[in-house]
Amino acid sequence: MKRALWVVAYLLFLFFSCSLSLAAPRTLRVDYYHTGNSHEEWFSLDRVVLEPLEWPGNLNKTIDESQMGNYRFEVRERASGKLVYSRGFNSVFGEWKTTEEALHGNRTFSESLRFPSPDAPVDVSLQERAGSGVHPGPTEAWKEVWKTLVDPKDKFVDRSRPPSPGALLEMQKMGDPATKVDLLVLGDGYRAAERGKFEKDARRFMEALFSTPPFREHQKDFNVWGLCPAAEESGVSRPSSGIYRRSPVGAAYDTFGTERYVLTTENRALRDVASFAPYEFIEILVNGQTYGGGGIFNQYATVAIDNLWAGYVGVHEFGHQFAGLADEYYTSDVAYLPPATKTEPWEPNVTALLDRADLKWKDLVAAGTPVPTPWNQEEFDRFEREIQRQRKELRAAGKPEAEIDELFRKQRAKEDAMLGSEKYVGKVGAFEGANYEAKGYYRPEVDCIMFTRHRTFCGVCRRAIERVIGMYAG
Ligand SMILES: [Zn+2]
Repeated sequence: MKRALWVVAYLLFLFFSCSLSLAAPRTLRVDYYHTGNSHEEWFSLDRVVLEPLEWPGNLNKTIDESQMGNYRFEVRERASGKLVYSRGFNSVFGEWKTTEEALHGNRTFSESLRFPSPDAPVDVSLQERAGSGVHPGPTEAWKEVWKTLVDPKDKFVDRSRPPSPGALLEMQKMGDPATKVDLLVLGDGYRAAERGKFEKDARRFMEALFSTPPFREHQKDFNVWGLCPAAEESGVSRPSSGIYRRSPVGAAYDTFGTERYVLTTENRALRDVASFAPYEFIEILVNGQTYGGGGIFNQYATVAIDNLWAGYVGVHEFGHQFAGLADEYYTSDVAYLPPATKTEPWEPNVTALLDRADLKWKDLVAAGTPVPTPWNQEEFDRFEREIQRQRKELRAAGKPEAEIDELFRKQRAKEDAMLGSEKYVGKVGAFEGANYEAKGYYRPEVDCIMFTRHRTFCGVCRRAIERVIGMYAG
């Protein structure tokens, strides 16, 4: 009799431990192709993948209520129509379609949607903000551009294990991935013999990130993981310098013809590598010295880690991917064509100020700060034009990186002096010049890490970052 009770107790223990382990689902991923040009888009399914690891997110925070991103996706139970997961994001295609090239031809980009693996079939709906890019319209209206049915039990769900990118490094573990922001630092262009260098580089990036408010105050909300798949050669592609590499996740300079812009279009490779870490955000460290980086909201950011300005670039680009922050600068060259009409951007840190009384960060504007806020824009722009001219000249002449560093040093010192003596420095207002346009867009403070190589985020950017931390941590 006593033995029978023990058997029952043991069976109960087994039952409960199994149901506990069932509580954390694996990560399901839909890989698809996004094809089109500046006025048309098509979507097609590539594959559905069951990733090797459990879902790293908080199952109580599956719905995205932030209204951020040019795109978003919704996952609904097929049987009941219940919304089980949603996220907003930007894509490389979304940027490319605003370039000159997209007026004349089609291109295809690989993209992915990741969500907790469901028990039963779901509908995955991809939606585009009607007001984004080349489709002006009301800012908050979304239109469905693609829908696909995903049955997690389908035999074609790819359950195979991708080739290993090497051991997962635990750079900083503050707790269960479900209750932390999980950041993957991923090395690209490192040979196997450079793995030790990658670890040091990753530490350097973390120091820069966690010494910058508000990340500094929230370091305990982050787990940081490291992966570094071995490259055959050091470095990544830089076509404008005649450098070509097949690096493991395909990061490369010269994106859309802008020499400093580093992105990857090898999304399939990137996702297979990243699937070996619990992650929500990715910072790709490019093993190289030439100034550059990039960041796409809710995709990844990149930084050339051996450059003198890597600390600034890494954090600035992380701001793009993490909190959907817009560029507040407007004097550097970009490949994007200006929008046909100015609508209010969804990004938290720039505004078209179409309604002065309804400034979206008005609760942070102190009494006595005028909106729009005056500043010496003419003097600043004159100086920046001269710096851009010298920068182009140095690049065109193939001068060593040290000369660019020196130019940027001079630039920062003068910017600090000019902006630091502004009447409304450190105050939140609405300063004209932002979002790649000298006129018609406004930024929250006279200076910010999204505007110059400044050391801190403005008050509006800090708040936007803290909101996103709250979507993942706790
Ligand atoms: Zn800012």
